This record gives sequence, C-alpha cells and structure tokens, in this order.
Amino acid sequence: MLTLPVYLDNNATTAVDPRVLEAMLPYFTRHYGNAASRTHAYGWQAEEAVDIAREQVAALIGAEPKEIVFTSGATESDNLAIKGVFEAYSSKGNHIITVTTEHKAVLDTCKHIEKIGGEVTYLPVNNEGLVDLGELEAAIRSTTILIAVMYANNEIGVIQPVMQIAEIAKRHDILFFSDAAQAVGKIPVNVLDDGIDILSLSAHKIYGPKGIGALYVRRKNPRVKLIAQMDGGGHERGMRSGTLNVPAIAGLGKACELCSIEMNTDGERIANLGNKLEKALLNIEGARINGSIQHRLPNTFNISFKGAESERLMLSLSRNVAVSSGSACTSASIEPSYVLKALGLPDDLAYSSIRFGLGRFTTEEEIDYAIGQLTPAIENLRSTLPQHV
Ligand SMILES: *Cc1c(COP(=O)(O)O)cnc(C)c1O
Repeated sequence: MLTLPVYLDNNATTAVDPRVLEAMLPYFTRHYGNAASRTHAYGWQAEEAVDIAREQVAALIGAEPKEIVFTSGATESDNLAIKGVFEAYSSKGNHIITVTTEHKAVLDTCKHIEKIGGEVTYLPVNNEGLVDLGELEAAIRSTTILIAVMYANNEIGVIQPVMQIAEIAKRHDILFFSDAAQAVGKIPVNVLDDGIDILSLSAHKIYGPKGIGALYVRRKNPRVKLIAQMDGGGHERGMRSGTLNVPAIAGLGKACELCSIEMNTDGERIANLGNKLEKALLNIEGARINGSIQHRLPNTFNISFKGAESERLMLSLSRNVAVSSGSACTSASIEPSYVLKALGLPDDLAYSSIRFGLGRFTTEEEIDYAIGQLTPAIENLRSTLPQHV
C-alpha cells in the first residue's frame, strides 16, 4: 500500500531514519546529562555521545573531529561562516564573493554584511546554473576575504565546480566556504580533496532530525579564524556557545554514519528511480529540465511544463504527490524562483516548474504512481486553462 501523498520533496526535508531515531532515544530520558558536566557520569555519557557523533560527522566529509562545530542547522552554519569570517578578517579586507543562486541563508547573510560595511559581489550563473570560473577570478580584489559558493543547489541540484573554485581561492590566499547541505550524504564530499576551508551541513536533509547541523572549520593549511556569533559558556571551542543538544547531535552522527555506509548503493538506486521519472516526464510535450544535466545531484529533477502553472498543478496533485516549485523558504511568496530566473528562464517557464526530490525511502511503486498522476494532471490543466502565448 502506498502512503499518499507520495513524498517527492526530499530537498526540503527528509523523514528521520528509524535507525537515527533509535540512536537518539537514550539521550532524552536515560542519558540526559549536560555534555559540559565534568563532575559525574551523566555528563560523561553525554560527552561520549557527542564525541562519537563528532567523529561520524567528520568521517563523512574527510575532516578531523576537532574541526566540527555543532550548530542548529545549515542556516546557522551559513551565518556563522560568513559573519564569523567577516569579523575575524576585517584587518585583511571586507569583500566577499558569492553567487546569485545561493540559498537565502547565504544571500540574506551577505545582504546583512553589506549593511554593516562589507562589500559583496553576486556572480551570475550560466543557463545551466554554473558559475564561470573566469568571472569568479576576475571578481577577486585585494580586499577579498571569502568566496562563498554552494556545493549543490537545493532547487535544481546543480553541482558547482568546487575543486576548481578552491584552487582559485587558494592561489589568491582567500578562504573558500561552501554550503553543502544538499551535497553531503548524496555525493562524495571530502574537504581535503575538494579544498574547502569552511562547510555547512544539516541533519534534516540526510534523514536526521531538524534543528541540528554542523560547520566544518579547517584547522590547518590554513587555520581558519571565526568570531563566534553566539557568546556564552564557550562551548564548541568558543565558536558556538549553548548547551549541546545531545540527542539531536547523536542523531546527526548516526545519520552521517548511515550515509557513509550506504551512499554509494543508495545513490545508485535513487539515480535509477530518478532517471525513470525524468524520462517519463520529459516525454510530456513541452517539458524541459532546468539546470545542468551533467553536473547534477542524482536525486534532484527540476522540470518546467510549459503552459501548466506549477501552483495549480501542485494544488490538483496535492492529495497524490507532494512536490515543490522550488525552495520551501520562498514558496510562500508567488514570485517565481530566483534560482530559475538566474538561469535566464522566462517568467512563464519559471512559473511552471516543479522540483522532484527523491530520497532513501522513495520506492519504484511511488515513482510509477507519480508518473501516472502527473501526466494526466498536466494535460488536464493545459486543456482547461487559457494557454500562455
Ligand atoms: C536546507 C538548506 C539550508 C538550510 O538548512 P537548515 O538546517 O534548514 O537551516 C541551507 N542551505 C541549503 C543549500 C539547504 O538546502
């Protein structure tokens, strides 16, 4: 039996894996100590759970446990990375380079930086959603302190050339920060091989709980300095004060461990299901895929159905298929997706785009069902509505 609506919005959030929940439970009611309590076993047990989780998170991205700072999620990690660097490197410069298709957590943080005296360059992307490396290098100034480019985009799944960006950053002695909330756990991410200095990740995108994430902060070659954005008891080596959320941290750790073990097999299964969905949907007249075909996450498919407005389509499908027209954070507004606009999509196509995000729990039966629902829904919409010209 299918559970309806079929959930194909895994880029917005994912279900908690039962094995993750299992790993969290003891830390609510039995081992409920404060990880900073050094004087009794309750504290030690909590600290041990945090230590294990730190190792699990680090292992997934090729980092050292000491380089992991637990936060409340990728939004906070993005804020800490950008504001923390801006404050710590003010004697070196005040210029940041980022990209127009970044997540709002990065873009709005950069807007804030501009209000407090920083300068930000927002690089455009090409029609595939990729940043131009020549333009990136040309944007560098003597005052540039940070290059912030996401690993993979949440709306279109496009993977940026992070290794080449890191190379450019290194050559100019500039820090490279990457929001990898959508990439970590789906494709191999390795901060050493990739040359990333600071990296954001979030548990709830990888079958962990909401409200927990981490920031990777490189400790050598170079050693990154960050000014804390949350002051207090000096937790997380002073970079993020506040009593650690031990159950959530244990969950994030377990989620990372599962990704480390299962990413390859799971990724292949998801890619196969996705290809089936994509192939069927692209058979629909006037359907086209948004973003690079070649440089894309295996689970993400952003498709425009010309003449079928996505808001109406999603409404007609709402009992059957749960999808999104782009980022959940902006879907309350009826503006077309700024990411799709950045790719140069005309308004009518941006307004008729659907994001499909497959996940660990997506089954073939669900994909077949979704295909069966979408095709007639789109045809129905087109036949009952005046066509865009
Ligand atoms: C989901 C997401 C975020 C926000 O993460 P939270 O943990 O929900 O704060 C940031 N960046 C990207 C790319 C995301 O996909």
